[in-house]
Amino acid sequence: MPATIFTCKDLAAEILQTAALAAKSFAGKHGRAPCLAVVFAGNDPASEVYVRKKGETCAKYGIDHKDFRLQATSNFAELEQLIDELNKNPTVDGILVQSPLPQGWNERAIQARILPSKDVDGFHPQNAGRLFIDPKHALAAGLPPCTPAGVMEVLKANNIDCSGKHAVVIGRSMIVGKPMAMMLLAHDATVTICHSRTKDLQAECKRADILVSAIGRPHFIGADHVKQGAVVIDVGISRLEMAGKARIVGDVDANALQEIASLITPVPNGIGPMTIALLIRNTVRAAERRANAGR
Ligand code: NAD
Repeated sequence: MPATIFTCKDLAAEILQTAALAAKSFAGKHGRAPCLAVVFAGNDPASEVYVRKKGETCAKYGIDHKDFRLQATSNFAELEQLIDELNKNPTVDGILVQSPLPQGWNERAIQARILPSKDVDGFHPQNAGRLFIDPKHALAAGLPPCTPAGVMEVLKANNIDCSGKHAVVIGRSMIVGKPMAMMLLAHDATVTICHSRTKDLQAECKRADILVSAIGRPHFIGADHVKQGAVVIDVGISRLEMAGKARIVGDVDANALQEIASLITPVPNGIGPMTIALLIRNTVRAAERRANAGR
């Protein structure tokens, strides 16, 4: 049977609609909408697109958003100062610093400077720690990293029970790979994390019932990597120039897996929209949690 290609647009829209209702109810109670501050330093063209999309999504679903732009010629101290101001601002609920920062700027230091209660990316050491200690609670009510949380929503929507399954995650970043592994583990999968030093990637992948690829190498995962019937989640994003046109492709060669995988998320229109939807959900959650805590 050919693989189901699960485009995530509808699921993302459903999550956004729910968040929009919650945002409206928040605005009714507190006289203002939940607010996301997006900080963009430098001039990375892909980030430019992501920041614009985030702003458009906020506007569409009733989230107030404030954009802050720093030039690559600004210095790191200016970014630190801006984060401190946003931390103090009671009308800002979520702070997102668009990655990558200009060369040489310390991303970890900035992630740790954002107040944990406003850390809608879930990268602050306190939120990352909570995910390790109590991942189910972090997913249900905390501020979990958006991309892997989006993957878990895709598995849930497709009734894929992780319990006892062998899940293989390729990539070990704090943004995707590591939190992804924690979330799958919390759902009782047996998890293997692979990375650039993994000795026999093909053999590891071939054992996966659920394969999540977050590498960033175009069409790297082909028929030789995938077991019959496996669920394949493609997180990777690569930009290719083809015949003078820019094209976005994933890590997975979906055509080669048509008769092998049971389900594939495509790129584009796969995990990308889920990431934005979960960011909006986290922003509304942050606003509600801060209001409940009287902050
Ligand atoms: P990263 O560069 O931090 O991590 C890449 C990982 O891939 C590393 O852990 C590395 O060990 C592994 N890797 C590299 N080459 C490999 C190889 N040959 N074999 C096995 N593993 C290898 O990147 P990241 O931030 O984790 O993002 C990964 C990919 O996911 C990128 O393409 C990124 O654009 C994409 N991404 C997509 C979304 C989304 O919303 N869809 C969100 C975040 C990241």
